[in-house]
Amino acid sequence: MAGLRQKLYWKAPYFVKTCMASWNARRLGRERFGADYARVLSEIADHDKWSPAQFAEYQQVELGKLIRHAARNVPYYQKLFAEIGVDPESIDGAEDLARLPILEKAVIRADPVSFVDRRLDPGKLITLSTSGTTGTPLVLYRDVWLNSAAFAYLDARWRGTAGMCRGHNASVSIGGHLVASPDRSRPPFWVHNRKWKQLYMSSYHLSPQYLDAYVDKLRQFRGEYIEGYPSSIYAVARHILERDLEPVTFKACFTTAETLFDYQREAVTKAFRCRTYDQYGCGEMAVSAAECKEGTMHISPEFGIVEVVDDNDKPLEPGQAGQLICTSLINHVQPFIRYRIGDIGALGAGRCSCGSPLPLLDHVEGRVDAVLITRDGRRVGRLNFIFSDVDGVVEAQIVQNDYDRFVIRVVPAKDYTDAEGQKLIRNLGHRVGEADIRVEVVDRIERTSAGKFKAVICNLPRT
Ligand SMILES: [Zn+2]
Repeated sequence: MAGLRQKLYWKAPYFVKTCMASWNARRLGRERFGADYARVLSEIADHDKWSPAQFAEYQQVELGKLIRHAARNVPYYQKLFAEIGVDPESIDGAEDLARLPILEKAVIRADPVSFVDRRLDPGKLITLSTSGTTGTPLVLYRDVWLNSAAFAYLDARWRGTAGMCRGHNASVSIGGHLVASPDRSRPPFWVHNRKWKQLYMSSYHLSPQYLDAYVDKLRQFRGEYIEGYPSSIYAVARHILERDLEPVTFKACFTTAETLFDYQREAVTKAFRCRTYDQYGCGEMAVSAAECKEGTMHISPEFGIVEVVDDNDKPLEPGQAGQLICTSLINHVQPFIRYRIGDIGALGAGRCSCGSPLPLLDHVEGRVDAVLITRDGRRVGRLNFIFSDVDGVVEAQIVQNDYDRFVIRVVPAKDYTDAEGQKLIRNLGHRVGEADIRVEVVDRIERTSAGKFKAVICNLPRT
């Protein structure tokens, strides 16, 4: 909802809002759960019985189709294949992908329509602008089939893993929904979408003075699962623990769109008495991965091919962390081949003890711009380590001002002491080496315009 409609919605009485939310769900339902949604769901269920060799064979066939389609129908790739002198027919499997150049985000941003299948009218496609940290959004195009397929993967391999079904099990969603005006200073900060049994809660009103109201609403709503941004869900969980309130019980928690920290997962387990299933994906529809019951991240290989490369774009072995390069196999509307997604991660080796045949994504360390960089070029990601043996911190953000100058912004809990701050400094120092590290105690940490929490602010000049 944008512009005037958004403003009317914010001003509307609550019962009108719920009607508008259900009406909006009907529109979204047409865009997200088209006629092919159920078919893709049942295909995924069949694939879950496949062997790794069958997935590899499937990827080879689908990659061939994607490459031929892109070379024939997508202006950017028509030109690219001619320029680099590669015969599209000669790309016969994932191992041949390395013969094609890596696609940078800036190239898409400069001309997103050149990536759209020329037989489609961009004006009639579903468009999405991702919230870029650079201030320039990326314009993405989809059709109903692509949306339906992507949602089917999320429902089957993320919510489904925990036995939850969107629309069937009542749920709470906190993350990026503009459900209440940012100026609003009294509840409700949420809206009920009856059609999908969902309670959308605002992630923009999670200030201490409103958190009692959030918890009361969660108790009254009795959702079966909660999903959204880790930082938003954690804000409520933390409040329950800090005030020693009765837990609000859910059957599962699903997190996405930000790095999930161990301390957030632990707070959810205690406050909501359930386990957390993290998901990794992107608006470009280039990768889809989700945690199983063992806490392992599994990639959906039918969705896309994931490569990991070093700083010189050379392939890395499983277990070695590097940049993720993703090729979407399902996105024929606006294909992205060997796309540098901007995240650091590693492929996993072997099989998971859960028995799933799906390949493993060992760990996603977060955005390339969410890691610290040392003077000798090391990247320090997975910042969980700074919280080990530290109490009394609600959340923290690391600001890197130079290779050896850091400020740790800390929102203190009531049991925070300077000694805890010293532990943060020591823990960070162990990873980054000798450096000027200071702690700054703050009331709150700013969110991005999309309501997301950033674990790192890097003020180093970009090279
Ligand atoms: Zn598993």
